[in-house]
Amino acid sequence: MTIHTVAEKVIAGERIDAGEALFLYRKAATALLGQLAESVRQRKHPERIVSYIIDRNVNYTNVCVAKCNFCAFYRPVGSSEGYVLGFDELFRKIDETMAVGGVQLLLQGGHNPDLPLTWYEDLFRAIKERYPAFKLHALSPPEVIHLSRLSQLPVPDVLERLIAAGLDSVPGGGAEILVDRVRTLLHCVGKATADEWLDVMRHAHRAGLRTTATMMYGTVETDEERIEHLMRLRSLQDETGGFTAFITWSYQPAHTELAGTEATGVDYLRTLALSRLVLDNFDNLQASWVTQGGKVGQLSLAYGANDMGSVMIEENVVRAAGASYCMDEVEIVRNIEDAGFTAKRRNMHYELLGDPIFRERDVPRMLELATAREDGDVSVPEELLKYPARSRAGKQLRIIPN
Ligand code: SF4
Repeated sequence: MTIHTVAEKVIAGERIDAGEALFLYRKAATALLGQLAESVRQRKHPERIVSYIIDRNVNYTNVCVAKCNFCAFYRPVGSSEGYVLGFDELFRKIDETMAVGGVQLLLQGGHNPDLPLTWYEDLFRAIKERYPAFKLHALSPPEVIHLSRLSQLPVPDVLERLIAAGLDSVPGGGAEILVDRVRTLLHCVGKATADEWLDVMRHAHRAGLRTTATMMYGTVETDEERIEHLMRLRSLQDETGGFTAFITWSYQPAHTELAGTEATGVDYLRTLALSRLVLDNFDNLQASWVTQGGKVGQLSLAYGANDMGSVMIEENVVRAAGASYCMDEVEIVRNIEDAGFTAKRRNMHYELLGDPIFRERDVPRMLELATAREDGDVSVPEELLKYPARSRAGKQLRIIPN
């Protein structure tokens, strides 16, 4: 095998195997990886459009029993810093999102034992009643598994109930690296094994939902395991065709138990380009500017990405681990256009919605990221008292003083 023969395969549109992917990742020059990824992107997206979505990344609770060692966001059950957002707070966030042209919530949170399935169903129904056209891209596979365990219902039944309540699509969070050796070392095998994560996505696709897939690299995985992750996604996509997009980002080590150092920008671009080459059955790859910054995000467009992800209105998880890049629509569009592409808004299904909204009407600039809550605000939403808690701390909270 030579770099030339593998590169020829990519250019001819042939599928590369794990050994060839590993060979390219280890041996090919970064510029060549970029050129190959760019050739695949151009074949799939010849129109030179780069899309983005206006949505809001909301974390409804930071209380989590999973305790992944790479996570700086969660608080244990009973923590004085634990919060659950109230329905009214979420409605306010949706109003703010719609004011800047937003079309959906990306709603994810910790595995909170004191939020039963009915809380999610009531929330989704309340949102859909107030905002019928607004989309819910919500609950990553480990959250669905958590709800399945909590409610003692099989995953397909949980998904069916959530879909009936208003779930539109499932975000690909919680995948980290889909290899159980890595997941064990990251203390996240308990929340979902690789097979369990893939199985939730399989069920979601069978139920008619489209979902995304992700990879968080740069912790303890080997190069081979990074590629195994991509191979497993590729084979599920062959089976169901349900993934709309792939997003990869580097582990953010600040304030985490695992600690360590962050992968470099070059490694990000090499990993992104390799993903474009391996995931030949994925149409869309997002640039992860939230972890890499706007300039590397812009460079991603030359390394296989065709989408700039989301206008960032609110972010809590990556910020907790030390990174806090902020780009509103004006900034995202400037980065896309300066790289020589046409910027278009899209929805979760990657259907184009139109030109930048700020060119159609006045929208407020968002130069700072919002957070789930003001620091130190741990007030308990009124409606939460209606739902049964599982933990002792949760039960204490539900006791209303006379
Ligand atoms: S990554 Fe998610 S599941 Fe893991 S500890 Fe953080 S909030 Fe919990």
